[in-house]
Amino acid sequence: MGATEPQWVLMATGRSPTNIAVIKYWGKRDEALILPVNDSISVTLDPDHLSATTTVAASPAFPSDRMWLNGKEISLSGGRFQSCLREIRKRARDVDNEKKGIKIKKEDWEKLHVHIASYNNFPTAAGLASSAAGLACLVFTLGKLMNVNEDYGELSSIARYGVWKCMPQYIWWICEMVYGKNDDGSDSMAVQLVNESHWDDLVIIIAVVSSKQKETSSTGGMRDTVETSPLLQYRA
Ligand code: ADP
Repeated sequence: MGATEPQWVLMATGRSPTNIAVIKYWGKRDEALILPVNDSISVTLDPDHLSATTTVAASPAFPSDRMWLNGKEISLSGGRFQSCLREIRKRARDVDNEKKGIKIKKEDWEKLHVHIASYNNFPTAAGLASSAAGLACLVFTLGKLMNVNEDYGELSSIARYGVWKCMPQYIWWICEMVYGKNDDGSDSMAVQLVNESHWDDLVIIIAVVSSKQKETSSTGGMRDTVETSPLLQYRA
């Protein structure tokens, strides 16, 4: 190989279902850390119908982190993506892929760039929690690539830097996203309440009446509520 660095690409793919809140959180107590004013309880939906599928790749040939969503390149400069990338890189471990002859040291992950491609099999940004499925899937798949400990509670607490209500696992089914008491959000994570066989006969029907992007983002709507509604404290 001489003086040039060997060129390889290491990839991982994951899929995360979306989830619909039966008790929804509304309003953040910390915008930067994405900490809500109340818990939420959500039901995981069937990933064959509503899920995000994400492939992540790392290579010394990539000069920067890049991401494509539904085939279109999107910016990774937003705080939520940067926080997730930073937190997952912090937890990366050595990778020794004998089959491909790739060895990556824990500290190499800080300078290795990633390319991310994600597809949602349902309308994006239309109120069906694509952000929850997408961010959960992103963190879960990056964790797989970087050999991060598969502790779903911890992964959910990283994904929480992207969006609240993330359950980076396939079959969590009914989960509580615990709002936590610590100011740094370290005790805010997803907890499974019951598994997928608990209510075998439950059917959720989602009728998409419009797949247009919503006019007010949840983030904006919540910010307005926190700033202007005297009633929010009672709801929480
Ligand atoms: P939704 O109700 O679908 O969650 P939001 O407006 O709250 O709508 O979130 C949409 C945003 O979530 C997108 O603009 C994008 O930043 C992010 N997002 C959606 N899908 C994915 C995905 N598969 N992977 C990563 N991020 C995603």
